[in-house]
Amino acid sequence: MDKAIDSNSIPLPPAKQSPEDQSSRECELAKLSEIRARLEEANGVLEIRINAKTRALRELAANLEKEMKERTEELRRKVAESENSRVALMNMLEDMEDLRRRAEEEREKTMAIIANFSDGLMFFDARDRLALVNPRIENYFSINKAESKNMIGGRISDIIRFAPMSPLGEIFAGSLEHISRREFSLNEKTVFEASVLEVAGRVGKIGTLLIIHDISREKMVEKMKTEFVSIAAHQLRTPISAIKWTLRMILDGDLGPINDEQREFLDKTYKSNERMINLINDLLNVTRIEEGRQVYNPVVADIEEVIRGLVSNYEDMARQKNLHLTFEKAVPVIPTVKIDLEKIKLVVSNLVENALKYTPAGGKIFVTLGEEDGNAMVEVADTGIGIPAEQQDRIFTKYFRSANAIKAETEGTGLGLFIAKNIVEAHGGEIRFVSDPGRATKFSFILPPAESD
Ligand code: ADP
Repeated sequence: MDKAIDSNSIPLPPAKQSPEDQSSRECELAKLSEIRARLEEANGVLEIRINAKTRALRELAANLEKEMKERTEELRRKVAESENSRVALMNMLEDMEDLRRRAEEEREKTMAIIANFSDGLMFFDARDRLALVNPRIENYFSINKAESKNMIGGRISDIIRFAPMSPLGEIFAGSLEHISRREFSLNEKTVFEASVLEVAGRVGKIGTLLIIHDISREKMVEKMKTEFVSIAAHQLRTPISAIKWTLRMILDGDLGPINDEQREFLDKTYKSNERMINLINDLLNVTRIEEGRQVYNPVVADIEEVIRGLVSNYEDMARQKNLHLTFEKAVPVIPTVKIDLEKIKLVVSNLVENALKYTPAGGKIFVTLGEEDGNAMVEVADTGIGIPAEQQDRIFTKYFRSANAIKAETEGTGLGLFIAKNIVEAHGGEIRFVSDPGRATKFSFILPPAESD
């Protein structure tokens, strides 16, 4: 544009020219003016193009700037996001480390408790393989650390094969079954009690725990108590028997006549003395059972005759209490049994006396002799007060008397059934009962048939 050609600025040739000169000059002028017009036109077009290009370039620059801004913004956002993620990751790592540390502390605490536990502990995993042994076990079974480590991973069947651990074989036939307070001993002085518990986690069984508790001290105290009761009962027996015979002589008139009032008092004293003798006999029986001193003299006996005779001894007592007492033989042939007569009589007496004691007047007592799976069976059923359901599992426990029985009959030691169970089991038999509280009770026991020689 600066170079645009101005037609007025073109210099004119000098005057006085010929007509030819004149026309050629005009012609040139026309050409010049045409050139100028063209130039002007080209100039305009150029200007328009330049303007258009400039606009386009500006737009492009603006777009580029916008895009740059957007990208920069996105980049900044991404950087911020990744920074956040990094921080979150760091926090997570810190939390995990914290959790790991706490889990480790808990584990250490648990291990310290197990290690210092007063009982021996052996933990078997869910596949019944030994996973943990505490030092108390090493101490009880006199094994060293290396030996105890060697047992890890083994099953109970492998462990009981290891000589120092073999006393556990008394309890486990080969598998790790659930047991509760089963006793075993390592030598004369030590008695242990083993229990096996299933350990359950939130997702089910995680393993099994074998707990071994030293009960040697309790056993020793128990033994001393039994010995004391045994000595006391023996010492009491002689003077009490002397009282009995003296009273008997007076009552029989051997020492001269007595009046009715004296007889009444002496009768009561005689009965009280009899109860004392029974108590002493029960105590002596219990101590013999506990010390394993009970001696049995089994003979082949006619059990029907024994029981029939015994029941008839109680007929008077039943009548006095207005109770109906019957004996029945349920099958024609009773299996022959080999029994200690006195002891089996004691069992039947205990059961019949209980039925008489715990059946209110007007009730019935049925004694039945029968057979079950080749065994002789004796049943004593009554329509009495029954045994409360919640106390039935303690019925054969020493000194146990149920609340309703204490109320119905103040006299009683709670030893009769304990003795009866021991005697029956010593004969290879079994004693059991069913009771409908408030209505009826049936005790029964079976005795295996005598082996034919
Ligand atoms: P005792 O009769 O001296 O209390 P036992 O050992 O013979 O002791 O019986 C223990 C307990 O069993 C009794 O105290 C009583 O609670 C319950 N019992 C035994 N026999 C019967 C029965 N026939 N009916 C109801 N309860 C009975």
